[in-house]
Amino acid sequence: MTGTVYKSTGSWYSVKTPNGKFYECRIKGKFRIQGIKSTNPIAVGDSVEFDVETKNNTETGVIKRIEERKNYIVRKSVNLSKQTHIIASNVDQVFLLITINNPPTFTSFIDRFLVTAEAYSIKTVLLFNKIDAYDEETILEVKYLASIYRKIGYECIGISAAAGKNVDKVKALMEGKVSMFAGHSGVGKSTLVNTIEPSLDLRTKEISNQHMQGQHTTTFAEMFDLSFDAKIIDTPGIKGFGVVDMEKEEIGDYFPEFFALKQDCKFNNCLHLKEPKCAVKEALENDEISYSRYRSYLQILEGEDEHYRTDNWEE
Ligand code: GDP
Ligand code: ZN
Repeated sequence: MTGTVYKSTGSWYSVKTPNGKFYECRIKGKFRIQGIKSTNPIAVGDSVEFDVETKNNTETGVIKRIEERKNYIVRKSVNLSKQTHIIASNVDQVFLLITINNPPTFTSFIDRFLVTAEAYSIKTVLLFNKIDAYDEETILEVKYLASIYRKIGYECIGISAAAGKNVDKVKALMEGKVSMFAGHSGVGKSTLVNTIEPSLDLRTKEISNQHMQGQHTTTFAEMFDLSFDAKIIDTPGIKGFGVVDMEKEEIGDYFPEFFALKQDCKFNNCLHLKEPKCAVKEALENDEISYSRYRSYLQILEGEDEHYRTDNWEE
């Protein structure tokens, strides 16, 4: 049998077969894949092959193989062992919800998120939410931000999750795909999911999960089929993606507009800092690259802590 992992509770995995039947599956013995050392060998979104076992009239599955993952998202666990936990795999796209205020979303956060998603090879769509609540000035800010990200290839949509504005556009993008929703707490993720699929009340789920956190320290990702041809992966309690370990030289490659210019830099290992004949710095000086993007790049390059001491790149 083959199927997709919809839920994992540590030792059991709910696997859905192509004909819609769920099997509770386990793994037997050691199960190491693709050289990833993670606390969970199998994650929500995985395609697996399993054998069916029947005991006392109940059918369960034993997973024997996992298909190669298109991508996967990890979280570094907070405990001392620093082990990696795979949150989800085979994600087609992430919708990053952004609000200008209540709460504010800073470009440094957006850019860090995009770099991580690029490193994971996951497409990101930017959703500027709460446009119903903005005054003219704030709408201009949304338009300005959207223009920065559209120019470098990211799809941007202004929406109102609460009023349903442009939610049909989001739904159209979700067709036939596995999607995730991300963004700061309070940007409207659960409101949006509820507008898309009212029967799927993730908000109450989240509350009950928080309640449960007193007893259990981990919350688990779960995949849901929507009433139209779309799937979402909900990750309660997971604030952001763990940052992939990146080499300094690699970071610029995850800024698409930098990557496009890289071959024009004099040095092929150019970090776009103070090197001579740097195409990225030239583009920055000609206003072809956004100042805020370059600033985020420096922050990521220098590491967050150092950044606050050395934010003097303008000199
Ligand atoms: P989450 O933490 O990202 O899941 O955010 P919620 O969905 O819980 O929303 C946080 C708050 O923002 C709630 O009070 C929502 O009613 C409000 N909210 C969400 N979407 C919108 C929107 O499109 N417009 C306005 N004005 N408020 C919204
Ligand atoms: Zn350069």
